[in-house]
Amino acid sequence: MALRPLLAGNWKMNGLKSALTEADAIAAALRTSAPAAGRPDVMICPPATLIASMAAALSGGELIIGAQDCHALASGAFTGDLSAEMLADAGARAVIVGHSERRAAHGERDCDVRAKVVAAYRAGLTAIVCVGETLGQRAAGLTEAVVRRQLAKSLPDTLSDGATAANTVVAYEPVWAIGSGHTTSTEDVARVHAALADELGTRFGDAGRSIRLLYGGSVKASNARALMAVPNVHGALVGGASLKAADFIGILESFG
Ligand code: PEP
Repeated sequence: MALRPLLAGNWKMNGLKSALTEADAIAAALRTSAPAAGRPDVMICPPATLIASMAAALSGGELIIGAQDCHALASGAFTGDLSAEMLADAGARAVIVGHSERRAAHGERDCDVRAKVVAAYRAGLTAIVCVGETLGQRAAGLTEAVVRRQLAKSLPDTLSDGATAANTVVAYEPVWAIGSGHTTSTEDVARVHAALADELGTRFGDAGRSIRLLYGGSVKASNARALMAVPNVHGALVGGASLKAADFIGILESFG
């Protein structure tokens, strides 16, 4: 089954109001280019401070706005946190959860990620669930076991109650490949994505087989075409190369 690909940019803790021009340029490229057959859905996940202004500036356009994290609860005494409902209210349509930087720096466990996935569904957001092995796990031959375990524990038991294949995306991001300039080989990506597809299909049947699987980790214009051609890769989650419109559009052009 051919799934419509997704190209998502994760700006992380980068971007002041002046960076809105980059999103404008991406939106303009989408507006002015003829929609090609393999054209992906295109998303930018800016820092939360920019979501509302980006949503206002881009309203009615094709560029989707996402967020980078959410709290599991809808409201409460959690100073500094943002709920999925708040992000949706600001204009986000998706949220990244379980990014390795949050798993590492904020101690997020699979059960925390799962609670955030449920929160995303509750607020009507698409959950982009990240999994990926560390260099040590990879060296120990544990890659497949690690990502299967993360995936199994980070998703709710059933794709029901507002959860569908359409509002669930999984991103395989080898931790050692993020921001390092190193990408994993296309053979390794193929092996891990096949394992993830198998895990989702076994668990959720046809719905699981309709969940898009993104690759992330130092994707750039020069390697995107080869990575996007790997079986079971339905798009990319891009960090550094999403910050400048020209770089991101270069990746967009390698689809199709
Ligand atoms: C990321 O942080 O999700 C990511 C893939 O970053 P980069 O593209 O910079 O490796």
